[in-house]
Amino acid sequence: MVTTVRREDPIQPTLLRTRGSVRPARQSSLREHNLSLVLRHIVDAGTPMTRARLAKAVGLTRPAVSDLVDRLIAARLVVESAPEAVERAGRPGVPLLPAPGSFVGVGLEVAVDHIGVRALDLGGTLVTERIVEGDFRASEPNSIFERLLSLCDLVVAQLDSSSATVAGVCVSVPGLTNPGGGMVRYAPNLVWQDVDAIAVLRRSPKLRELPIEVGNDADLAARAEARQRSRASGGSRLDQNFLFISGEVGIGGAIVLGGELAGGLHGWSGEIGHAVVDPRGPQCGCGATGCLEQYAGKDALVRRAGLPPGTTITNLLARVAAGDESARTAVEEAGQAVGLASSSALNLLDLDTVVLGGSYAQMFDVLGPTVHAILTERVLAARWVPVRVESAVSGDFASLTGAAMRVVDRVVTHPTPWLG
Ligand SMILES: [Zn+2]
Repeated sequence: MVTTVRREDPIQPTLLRTRGSVRPARQSSLREHNLSLVLRHIVDAGTPMTRARLAKAVGLTRPAVSDLVDRLIAARLVVESAPEAVERAGRPGVPLLPAPGSFVGVGLEVAVDHIGVRALDLGGTLVTERIVEGDFRASEPNSIFERLLSLCDLVVAQLDSSSATVAGVCVSVPGLTNPGGGMVRYAPNLVWQDVDAIAVLRRSPKLRELPIEVGNDADLAARAEARQRSRASGGSRLDQNFLFISGEVGIGGAIVLGGELAGGLHGWSGEIGHAVVDPRGPQCGCGATGCLEQYAGKDALVRRAGLPPGTTITNLLARVAAGDESARTAVEEAGQAVGLASSSALNLLDLDTVVLGGSYAQMFDVLGPTVHAILTERVLAARWVPVRVESAVSGDFASLTGAAMRVVDRVVTHPTPWLG
C-alpha cells in the first residue's frame, strides 16, 4: 500500500516547507490566528481550560482571551461546563470544552477490504459511523464511490436532522494522492490510476457544497495515532515522534515528527510497503520484486502460511496459537521483513520509535518482539538510545478516524468562516 502527505494546515509536512516571502500579518489574519490558538488549546487540552489558564497558556491578556472565547461560544464551537469548586477566595473558573456534536468532520474510506463513513465532532467524539466490509481489490472506481456515497448520504442526513454542521469531508484511499487536489494518482491494490475522486463525490447533492479533500490512508491513520497518543499520555502533540507502519493488504507508512507528518518533495513519503526486502523475491503489484508487502501484507501472510485466500488475521493468529508451524513461520518472517525495512528507515531518519498499526496492532504480541530484535541489532544508535516498538492505540479503522479529524482540524485552524 502506498502513502502520501497533504500540504494544508495543520498537517503541513515538517521536512519541507515552501519558502515564501514573509509578510506582515494583517489585523484579520492576526485575529484568526488568535482565535485558532485559543480553540486549539481548548480542543487539545488534557484537563479542560478555563479563561485564566488559557490566558497563561497562549500568552494573551485575560480580557483578550475572554473576548475570543465569547466569539467561539457564540459560534457554537465552544461550550462552558459547570464551574469548578473554589478552594480559595475568588471567582470559580469555568471549564471550556469543544462543543459536543455541533461541528462534525466526516471521514470516508475506500480500502481493499472495506468502505466506510465515520463522523467525529470537534472533541474527537464519535457521532455516527457506517462500515461495510467486502473485497474491493481491482474495483471499478465509479461503482465503489456510488456505494460509498449511499453510505455517506445516510450519515449526512442523520447529522442534518440532529442540527450538526458538517464541516467537510475527507476521503482516505490506499494510494498516492495529489497534494492539494482530489486526484488519486495510484492505488496499486485497487488498481486505480489517475482517478478524480472529488469530481465523482461532487455528484452527490449532499456533498456538492462541502469542502472535500483526499488523503492517503497511512498518513491519516498516523494523524489519528499522534493525536490519540498525546491525549493518552496527557502530553503535547508536539512531542510525538515515530515511524508509523500499518499492516493491511498493503503496508502503509508515515513519518511523524513533532506531532506533524513529515512530507517529502511531492508529499509521497512513507512508502515502506515497497521497500525492498529481497530483490529476488516475489513480484509485487507495483511492478518491482521482493517488496515488504510481499512478505508482510495481509494477503502475503495468509499465502505464506499456506492458508486459503481471505483467511482473517484472527484465524491466522488462532493457527499460530494452536501450534501451526507454517503459520508461526509466516508471522515470524513477516516480523523480520518489517524489522529489516524499518531499520533502514530509522537509520535514515534518526527516529527511535516504531508504532505498529492496522492488523499489526492485532498481531503485536507475536510480531512485535521480532521487529524489536531486528531493530536492536541493525539500528546504529540503538546502543545509546534503545529502540521502542509499540502497538498503535488509535483503534480500528484509524484512517477513517484520521480523515474525520483532518476536517475537524481545518475548522480549528481556520475558524473564521464558521463564526456566522
Ligand atoms: Zn512493491
